[in-house]
Parts: sequence; structure tokens; C-alpha cells
Amino acid sequence: MDFRSDTVTHPTEAMRIAMANAIVGDDVYGDDPTINALEMWAAERHGFEAAIFTSSGTQANLLGLMSHCERGEEYLCGQQAHNYKFEGGGAAVLGSIQPQPIENERDGTICLKKLKKAIKPDDIHFAQTKLLSLENTINGKVLPLSYLKEAREFANEHNLQLHLDGARVYNAAVALNVDIKEIACHFDSMTICLSKGLSAPVGSLLLGNKAFITKARRIRKMLGGGMRQAGILAAAGKLALTEQIDQLKVDHANAQILAQGLNTLPGFEVNLEQVQTNIVFTKVAEHINTAHLQQNLRKDGIIISSGNPLRFVLHNDITQDDVHTLLEKLAMYSA
Ligand SMILES: *Cc1c(COP(=O)(O)O)cnc(C)c1O
Repeated sequence: MDFRSDTVTHPTEAMRIAMANAIVGDDVYGDDPTINALEMWAAERHGFEAAIFTSSGTQANLLGLMSHCERGEEYLCGQQAHNYKFEGGGAAVLGSIQPQPIENERDGTICLKKLKKAIKPDDIHFAQTKLLSLENTINGKVLPLSYLKEAREFANEHNLQLHLDGARVYNAAVALNVDIKEIACHFDSMTICLSKGLSAPVGSLLLGNKAFITKARRIRKMLGGGMRQAGILAAAGKLALTEQIDQLKVDHANAQILAQGLNTLPGFEVNLEQVQTNIVFTKVAEHINTAHLQQNLRKDGIIISSGNPLRFVLHNDITQDDVHTLLEKLAMYSA
């Protein structure tokens, strides 16, 4: 039982079969029918003109940022944004793009007034602000649809492009019980991770208009991300988007069970308001040694992250029984 992340999910049996049988070609030549079909289908499904399959979510974000912004331009993002904090500074390192992070609000949004102040005037002293990048879900939290609409209006008003790091955007759609297009429609570009809760072994998508995706394709090749018979991966990716969405409901329900269970254990405290999808953060009292907890659980075959708050992530390879087992063991080892 591995609670560290939803990236640990193994491909489903159906994915293994689809991968074994995938018709493939050289995708750099545009010859992989399975990749082409996934890209066309995904563009249509999410309401964009075009899509590109990438090796990772990090690469999809980088292609997005580099396709929107030239050297010396700037993107606005959250201080907690994955594409600011957890991607090795790739936009700056590889794209010469300046990030302008703004503190996220408690609900994961970024205050539009603060964003407005951060937009640089047209003056030779400043990098030119080109893009606003949001993330949904962010640390398991869902951005309200009303906020997305306001962010779109804000971007229009200030002549900015709007990008969504949608690594877990399906978790947001499932939590809101809306079609994915109701989220996607506000953005010029969006990424989706197929290899998190959706259980594909590898791969993400970047979506946008035709010219944008053409540019991204050139940059992907430059970054060494042009893959050859990658239809083997796309075959699993298609099933991620067609067969695995309902599983996210189960993951969210399991997250609720875990969160409520943790709140009955002495020394653990979960803010239930913040548990909206498949991620649970719990504060741990100082008298509990989380390193020992982690070691003891490991002996029982349960893997958790370290830190305080502790983060647990629910996914396809964790059942409700597993959640109850984890709660029992936590009670035992923290007593
Ligand atoms: C995981 C994640 C990514 C990056 O995906 P990788 O496939 O791990 O590179 C980007 N953004 C968010 C919000 C993520 O959670």
C-alpha cells in the first residue's frame, strides 16, 4: 500500500492488453496512428483545436510556458504552483522566461487584485507579462468555476494568455460533478497528467490551438521529447481518459474516510474543508515521531511520505479496506 502519491499507480489489466496490441509508427514522422488518434480525440474531447502527447506533466507545462512566452517575457503563477516550485525552474533555465509568483490564497486561487499589481507596465526596465498560469486541483483543492470565469475576464482585460496546469484537472471535474469542458473552456492551453490518478504508466497531454501546438511540437523535439513508437504509451493514455475517470470518485470517497478517521485519532488533525479530492493533509502532534511511524508502517508494507503535515494520496491501487488498515496501524503506532 503506497500512499505517497497517485503517480505510483500501476497500469490496469486493460491498459496492459491495449499496450501489447497497439498499432505503432514513428511519432517524430507523425506516423504513429495510436498517438495521432489520442491527440485528435483529446483535442475534441476537451474543446481545443489540437493536442500533443508528452513524456511527463513537467514537459507538458514547459512546452506550454515556452510556447506562450519568448525569452525575457514573464508568466504569473501561484507561489505553490507546481510549474514554479517543483519543476526545477525549467521555464527560467530552458526558456529564459521569468516567473512572477504570487502567494496563493487558502483555497488555492490567486487574488486578482494582487495579480493586477504584478503585471509589468510597458517600460524597457521590465520583463513583459504574457501569461497567467493556474493549477487545478492545487494541493488537492478545487478552484471554483466562478473564479475561473473571473480569471478569464481578467486575462482578456489585460491581454494575457491563460494556461491551466491540469495535472489533476479530472479530479476537479469529478469533485464539481461537471463535464471537463466546463473547466477547460476558460483556458488558452491546458495540461492533463495521464499517469497520476488515471493510472497510465507514462504520459501527459498539452492542449491548445493549432499554431500553439505546432510551436510546442518543435520545442518538444528540441528538448529531446520526440518519441518514436510511443503509441504503446498512448494506448494506455486513451484508457486513462475513457475508463479511469469513475475511479476518481472512489478515490475521493476513500479520502473522506481517511480524513474523518484521522480526526478520531489522538494527535492527528485534518481540516476537512481542505479535503476536496484525493489528497489528505494531516497535522501531527509533536509527541508523535513521524519518522518512527513511517518506519513501523514500512515493516507492514505501508509506504507513506514524511513531513508534518503528513500527506496521503488516494488512488486506484488503494482500496477502502486499505484505508481502514492504515487507520488501525496509525492508531497502534502513535499510541
Ligand atoms: C505531477 C504534477 C505535474 C508534473 O507531472 P510529472 O508527470 O510528474 O512531470 C505538474 N503539475 C502538477 C500540479 C502535478 O501534480
